[in-house]
Amino acid sequence: MKIFLVEDDMAVGRALLSVLQDEGHVVVWVRLAAQVWERIQVDTFDAVLLDLGLPDGDGTVLLRQLRTENSDLPVVVITARDSLEDRLRSFSLGADDYLIKPFEIPELLARLRAVVRRSSPAAGSEAPPVWKQGDCTLDEGRLLVTRCGVPVTLSKTEFALLCALMRQSDRVHTRAQLEALLPQSEAQTLDVHISNLRRKIGDGLIRTVRGVGYMVLCEST
Ligand code: CA
Repeated sequence: MKIFLVEDDMAVGRALLSVLQDEGHVVVWVRLAAQVWERIQVDTFDAVLLDLGLPDGDGTVLLRQLRTENSDLPVVVITARDSLEDRLRSFSLGADDYLIKPFEIPELLARLRAVVRRSSPAAGSEAPPVWKQGDCTLDEGRLLVTRCGVPVTLSKTEFALLCALMRQSDRVHTRAQLEALLPQSEAQTLDVHISNLRRKIGDGLIRTVRGVGYMVLCEST
């Protein structure tokens, strides 16, 4: 990771620099609030370790500025200010974590890893899938269905049904499985929803499997 260390205390700064470098991180260390902004404009970081008490300014001002300009960059506040008010203020300004000096280095490293993991789009869950069959595309993340590239408006229930069918295409979904996706009050209306779906996305995509249920056939290549 590339870490931006903002810390005016030489002893603390040197110790953190050494530990973080030993852990394999690249560290850019500045000691003044004035240096933060010029550096952040020209460099990209994975996380910021931010001391609040700086000789030429207050870290909370920097925190507010960071959040305004770069909303995603994880910030761990490292400070001797231990009041609840200070902590709450930092969190309300957008700090991802808050560590009171003196702290144990392993705890700092663990918290740093945690905030970076939480902010990383690759971590946690993968990007929601996009399904494509014929001229129909379903984007789960954007809750968007298009036919020939043109957005189609579906009800919540229609979207849920199409999602289930597209996720496991080439597999028959029984009526009971699909009815389980309907609101309780609409349990008897599966055929109506399927019929509406066909009207909106085209007749060919959803096949009826007589006496069993419905399926979406994989595109033949
Ligand atoms: Ca300080």
